Amino acid sequence: MAEISNGFASAANKSRSDKSNASEKLAHLPLFLKHQQPEFEKIFEAVDAMPLDDTHCHLVTDRDAITTPKRFLERISLAGYAFPAYFPDGVYEQWLNSDEGAKQALNRKYDIQSKVDAMTYDLSQSIFIKFLTKEMAQFFNCEPRLEAVIEARNARGRENYWGYVNDLFRDVNLENIIHDTGYMEGVGKAEIDAFEKGIEPCRAHRIARIEAIQEELFGLDITFEEFEARYTTRLLDIMDGDGNFGKKSVGMKSYLLPDIGLIRPLYDRTLAANSWEDLRRSHSVRAKMDREASANVTKDLCRYTFTLTLEECLKRDLPMQIHTGDGEAPYVILRNQDPFFLEEVVRFDKDNMMRMPKIIPLHAGYPSVGKAAWLSHLYPNCYFELSIMTPFVHQSLYERYKQVLEAVPISKVLYASDNYHLPELFWISGRWGKRYLSQALADYVIGGSLTFDEATEAASMILHKNNRALYKLDP
Ligand SMILES: [Zn+2]
Repeated sequence: MAEISNGFASAANKSRSDKSNASEKLAHLPLFLKHQQPEFEKIFEAVDAMPLDDTHCHLVTDRDAITTPKRFLERISLAGYAFPAYFPDGVYEQWLNSDEGAKQALNRKYDIQSKVDAMTYDLSQSIFIKFLTKEMAQFFNCEPRLEAVIEARNARGRENYWGYVNDLFRDVNLENIIHDTGYMEGVGKAEIDAFEKGIEPCRAHRIARIEAIQEELFGLDITFEEFEARYTTRLLDIMDGDGNFGKKSVGMKSYLLPDIGLIRPLYDRTLAANSWEDLRRSHSVRAKMDREASANVTKDLCRYTFTLTLEECLKRDLPMQIHTGDGEAPYVILRNQDPFFLEEVVRFDKDNMMRMPKIIPLHAGYPSVGKAAWLSHLYPNCYFELSIMTPFVHQSLYERYKQVLEAVPISKVLYASDNYHLPELFWISGRWGKRYLSQALADYVIGGSLTFDEATEAASMILHKNNRALYKLDP
C-alpha cells in the first residue's frame, strides 16, 4: 500500500468490509503506532471495528458545508467559539455577514479583522489542529496542509454535505448518538430532523436542557404558581410526550453549575417564589448586571427547577447530564465548574436519605479529570463521560484514559465527543477515542492486569454497551 508524506498509510478509498490484509486493518493508525507492540495491534483491530455510541453531543447543520481555513479553526476550537463575545453585542455577526465596504467600516471602528487574525493564528498553532490536519489529509488522500484539507472538504460539501457527514459517521462506526437540543444556534425542528436523517442508519436520541425550558418562561410576567405549573407541564411533555422538538427526551441536561458553583437541591417553594419575584423585578436591568449578580438573582429559582427535574429523572430511572469542567469562557464562570460541586446532587438527600439519581458529570470534568474520576469512584450512581477531553487532549488521551480507569469502574465510563458545529469532531473523537483507548488497554494486557478478552470487553462497554444499558436503548 502506498504511503503518503503525512505519516499515514493511504486509506481514503478503503471499505470497512475489505479488511483482509494486515496493513488494511491498521489503516486508521499513524506509522509511529504501527508494528510497535503486537498486543496493541491486536486490541486495536478489535476495537476499531466496534460500534460506537456518543452519549453527549450537539447537532450539525449545513451552515458549515462550505468553509474557509480560518472559519474552520474558529468553529472547531473552544477558544474560537467565543469570538463574538470580544466585541459589542451583535457586532461580530454583523461583520461576518457584511460586504467588503461595511466590513472595512466595522474594522475601522472595532479593529475586528486584525483581532480575529491574531486569535485565529494562535488557534492554528495548536498541536490538536496540526494533528487533525494530518488525520483529515489521510481521510481525503490529500496533502497534509490545512488549506488542502479544507479544499477537499469543500468539494464534498458542494457535492453532498450530508453524504460527507455520513461517511465520517460510518468511518468510526457510530451507531447511536444522544444529542442535547439545548445548543441550537437559532435553528429548530427542521434542522434537527435533517441532521438525524443525514446520519442514518446511526440512531439519534435526544436530551433536553432545563435552561431551554426556563428560557421560554423566565421573561413572562406571570405568578410563581403559574410559572411552576407551566414548567412542570413542559417538563412532562419533554420526558413523556414529544416535547423535545417532536420527540421524547431520553434523559435531561443541566447547565447550572457554571452559573452558581456548588448546587444544593432546593425543596423550599417560598425561597423559589422569592427568587421568581426578584427576577420579575429585575427584568429591565438584568442585561446590564455582571454575570455573577445576574446568576444570583435566579440562583434559588434554578436550584428549585433543577430539583423538580431531577425528581422526575429519578422516578423514571433516567440519567441527568450535568455540565462540568470544560471551557466556554468568557460566557461561563470557570471557577464554578469543579466536579466536587456536584456531590450534593449526586447524593440528592431528602429526609436523611440519599436517593442517588443517575448523574453524568460531563466533559470528563476536564481539566479536573482526577476529581471527576474520584467522584465516580466513590458514588455508585455517578458516571464518567469522556467528551471534550476526547478529542482535544489528542495523543495524550492514552495517559488520560489510564488516569480515568485507575479510579472509575469500567461499567461506568461512557464515550462521548461533545460534537458541536462541525462533524469532524464526531469523527476525530471516534478515531482517537478508539486508538488511544486501545493503547491504554494494551498497557494493562502487557502488565498482566487484564487478559486480552477482558480488555476488548472493557472497550465495548466504554464505547457502546454502558450507554445502551444506562439509557435503556436497544442492545
Ligand atoms: Zn455539550
